[in-house]
Amino acid sequence: MSLDAYSEKDCISTNTNTRLFLSPPHMGGNEQKYINEVFKSNYIAPLGEFVDKFEDSIKRYTSAKYALATSSGTAAIHLALRVLGVKKGDIVLASSFTFIGSVVPILYQNATPVFVDSDESWNLSPKLLKKAIKDLPNKPKALIVTHLYGQMAKIQEIADICKENKIYLIEDSAESLGATYKDKQSGTFADFGIYSFNGNKIITTSGGGMLISDNEEWIKKAKFYATQAKEPYLHYEHEEYGYNYRMSNVLSAIGVAQMEVLNERVKKTREIFEFYKRELRDIDEISFMPEIEGSFGNRWLTTISFEKTDPFKIIKRLEEVNAESRPLWKSMHLQPLFKDALNFTNKTGEKLFEKGLCLPTPTNVKLDELKRVTEAIKDIC
Ligand SMILES: *Cc1c(COP(=O)(O)O)cnc(C)c1O
Repeated sequence: MSLDAYSEKDCISTNTNTRLFLSPPHMGGNEQKYINEVFKSNYIAPLGEFVDKFEDSIKRYTSAKYALATSSGTAAIHLALRVLGVKKGDIVLASSFTFIGSVVPILYQNATPVFVDSDESWNLSPKLLKKAIKDLPNKPKALIVTHLYGQMAKIQEIADICKENKIYLIEDSAESLGATYKDKQSGTFADFGIYSFNGNKIITTSGGGMLISDNEEWIKKAKFYATQAKEPYLHYEHEEYGYNYRMSNVLSAIGVAQMEVLNERVKKTREIFEFYKRELRDIDEISFMPEIEGSFGNRWLTTISFEKTDPFKIIKRLEEVNAESRPLWKSMHLQPLFKDALNFTNKTGEKLFEKGLCLPTPTNVKLDELKRVTEAIKDIC
């Protein structure tokens, strides 16, 4: 049976062990202290000093010149497209193997998405990207490339192709904060980079995002659109429309504290990956998402793919030991929403969806507790 046939109800756990979640929030310690400071100052809203502090902290960490804290990662991508002038009739290329939030802003702008499949890196195929650019009747305006599960795409090659063809590049680094390629941070190879701090990401503000760029004018413009496009008068004067897309001071306070532990989190997710790899090394049919040469992934989630075993059997078995797991993302070119969209594929997305699995990668557990997961997988394989 195809994974499509199963619903969430097919997997309800009755096990009473502490649940092992895929990627639960993991507070570092200073979050409440900073929130208290916010409450004391009464800058609950609008904005406030922790928004600036959070943006500064992201700039320091990534070496991006400018940063804008937003209400979500999706909002940050939308702002990037709007600032770049993406509009109806424009083609926007995108990684097909990604999460919907990555590409839905293309629809918000009434532009036309065209999807590009992955290669052996599990991320966007530069070869298919070149083919898409060559075969499309019109020059694409932009590309949104995702570094999935915290692992770097072949970003230098992709950035070079975009530059050569004068296509704007947006890096969806929602899952890959802290990952690098040749020591350069994920999100800083493109015209714009975005991060997400949604509840399940490697660090979280409960919900939120960040837009980064080295172009001051663009970030200024994004800020303008993110605050209802208010013209600089005392009263509310509007020549254009914008959005309500800024991050609150309360949530930014959480973000500042979470940035203090980002490196610890990455260290732990990488240890979890190594643990799974070691424990499952005897099962030949399992392969892990690769880390391309020269890169350092944040291993946000450990993701695997099976040669023979139906991943649904594993999902069910893991539920019996109260461990959460999920199929890999279903590629955009396979989604009913995009049945009419053009795509450049090589069947990688299909295979990964049919055969792949995300394993629990909770940074707040002892590695030994994950034996529950590896033993369950061994039982089935
Ligand atoms: C989470 C995520 C987003 C969207 O971020 P939100 O903050 O949830 O809006 C976009 N792209 C990818 C790859 C993501 O994982």
